[in-house]
Amino acid sequence: MLEHAQRILKDVFGYDSFRGRQGAIIERVANGGDALVLMPTGGGKSLCFQVPALLRDGLAVVVSPLIALMDDQVATLDELGVAVAALNSTLSADAQREIAERIKRGEIKMLYLAPERLVQPRMLSFLQSLEIALFAIDEAHCVSQWGHDFRPEYLQLGQLAELFPNVPRIALTATADMRTREEIVQRLHLQNAERFLSSFDRPNIFYRIVPKEQPRKQLLSFLGARKGDAGIVYCLSRKKVEEVAAFLSEQGFPALPYHAGLANELRAYHQKRFLNEEGLIMVATIAFGMGIDKPNVRFVAHLDLPKSLEAYYQETGRAGRDGLPADAWMAYGLQDVIFLKQMLNNSEGDERHKRVEQHKLDAMLALCEETRCRRQALLAYFDEDMPQPCGHCDNCIDGVQTWDATEPARQALSAIYRTGQRYGVGHLVDVLLGRDNDKIRAVGHQHLAVFGIGKALNEGEWRSLFRQLVARGLADVDLEGFGGLRLADSCRPLLKGEVSLQLRRDLKPQQSAKASSSAASQLVRGEERSQWEALRALRRKLAEEHGVPPYVIFPDATLLEMLRSKPSTLAEMARVSGVGARKLERYGEVFLSVLGGADETPRAVLDLRHELVSLARAGMTPAQIAAQLKCSEKNVYGMLAEAIAQQQLSLEHALDLPETLLAEIQDAFLDGEGELPAVAAIGEQFAGRVELGVLHCVRAALQAEFET
Ligand code: ADP
Ligand code: ZN
Repeated sequence: MLEHAQRILKDVFGYDSFRGRQGAIIERVANGGDALVLMPTGGGKSLCFQVPALLRDGLAVVVSPLIALMDDQVATLDELGVAVAALNSTLSADAQREIAERIKRGEIKMLYLAPERLVQPRMLSFLQSLEIALFAIDEAHCVSQWGHDFRPEYLQLGQLAELFPNVPRIALTATADMRTREEIVQRLHLQNAERFLSSFDRPNIFYRIVPKEQPRKQLLSFLGARKGDAGIVYCLSRKKVEEVAAFLSEQGFPALPYHAGLANELRAYHQKRFLNEEGLIMVATIAFGMGIDKPNVRFVAHLDLPKSLEAYYQETGRAGRDGLPADAWMAYGLQDVIFLKQMLNNSEGDERHKRVEQHKLDAMLALCEETRCRRQALLAYFDEDMPQPCGHCDNCIDGVQTWDATEPARQALSAIYRTGQRYGVGHLVDVLLGRDNDKIRAVGHQHLAVFGIGKALNEGEWRSLFRQLVARGLADVDLEGFGGLRLADSCRPLLKGEVSLQLRRDLKPQQSAKASSSAASQLVRGEERSQWEALRALRRKLAEEHGVPPYVIFPDATLLEMLRSKPSTLAEMARVSGVGARKLERYGEVFLSVLGGADETPRAVLDLRHELVSLARAGMTPAQIAAQLKCSEKNVYGMLAEAIAQQQLSLEHALDLPETLLAEIQDAFLDGEGELPAVAAIGEQFAGRVELGVLHCVRAALQAEFET
């Protein structure tokens, strides 16, 4: 059995060996047993049901909660030459009938379905009339009412156990917590399933958490080392999402906003672009979540603190599904803590629920202030023991300095107490530093005993100290008011001098900035750059021709292996991981010719054009694009016009023209009979009002329209 599975792995998927427990899972399911698979994102869950589906007779039915997820897998399997189909609401009745006919004729091996579709009585009886190879229930945690991905239709999937007693079922999830696990077993009737639990570590992700000082500047310096990489920037509010997306675009980083307040079509459009284009940054609220199967997300940056470690793990986990180096970066400050605590306090729900949420937030804060290995701490929270520090997080790499903060902490606490437990950090720091300003005088705080006792520390150090006092629960945030601090009960032993306090010393910004260029940006070394870009350009072109995301043609890991192992024959190409029989046949030759150095110059031009199109689509103006690509604006207009003429770009994406002006220009071109006049012929008419390049673009759009 395993031998056969191995052959499928190589021939169809192009991989040499199973990863982790894949082999055992595949054997179990292929032999007709049920399985519950708990594996982190990027662990390789899909193969666990795709290989048994090819090993067993009959139709394999895969339940997936989102069309986007289905589309991705269907496109991938299709490229691999597997007979696959998806039934979903976007198909016409005719198309659905056609698929049903093909299934009856045994022409389809794998069928992807939404849960609500599967449990329709007609669908169930249709399936009962067929031979079924297996049921795979992907994202099985959607059955959990406690998680935020809950899908009521998943509850009905339990009936598969009774309706298809002899068909193996495999449920898969990347959710780490125990409670969800048990719920899956219960609700999906998987009591007899063998459990396959993998480590939840994501070894390729580098974790870094920095104190928030000037968040935008810090973000820019993080992104600066990752130009051209795709990533996600998470923010808490919709407004901030919009602002940060606009800011990044201005700064030359192609960025798109995504949040629940955008119209559905726009959201879907942005998501599609994120998947299909390379190097886009999605600035998003947590509404951007499940369904992001893009494997080459190189970083996830948090500008605001997540509410729990579960959320942090899930959100950062969207980076690096392909197993290549990726970064999880977060800037966090006292304001985050205050905000989340207030939000929690004002939320609905009973006291018990609030207490649970409070504990979750505390665990998140503890990770931020952690002085040991971040990965050890994160995994420990999910009950996983990691014996050694990981060597692949900021704390392991930079080392953490701690200092004895017992005395200053007492001073800070007494400043809180003496000022009446209602002032925010700014005022408290002023008091400690003895700043003689109006606000201090207005309340007479210059007379307090604590006034000016803290001159041994500077402002930044005091702020860091207050943040850590709150994070450790030694001081509380005033929940109704404006972020004033109060003493917490737990600070008593410290005030009484019974315990001492060690705190984390924040790195100076330039230190952490230097340390922030990490593994991900070094994926491709300087001398490999041009060939890497050539491979990517070819992949992009093929992806556009086939209407699929680039990673469906070949994942980055496969391109990278091509780059390194430099195959020069089809036989050598076949040995590259990720090159299966079908892809070898389809793409082997063209990739070999690029690797052989064919076609260098035109490719470079093509490449520039592709980048230009991405930037324009991301909303950058011609002037911004010119700055980004380091060429003249005139050139940019020229290339834009070319891209428009070849229908790679719409006029709306290229230019932001007022409608009336656009109409006027179009009229000018369309005035005469026959051929479109040259730009020069109407240039005079618009002199001083628009760039000549704009006219070129409008003309190109008209031309493209005529040709279709
Ligand atoms: P998950 O669903 O667990 O997040 P995927 O099934 O999408 O993960 O797999 C993640 C990536 O790893 C994909 O690009 C996949 O092709 C690749 N992969 C999976 N199994 C193997 C393997 N045995 N060898 C090499 N690559 C693999
Ligand atoms: Zn570590």
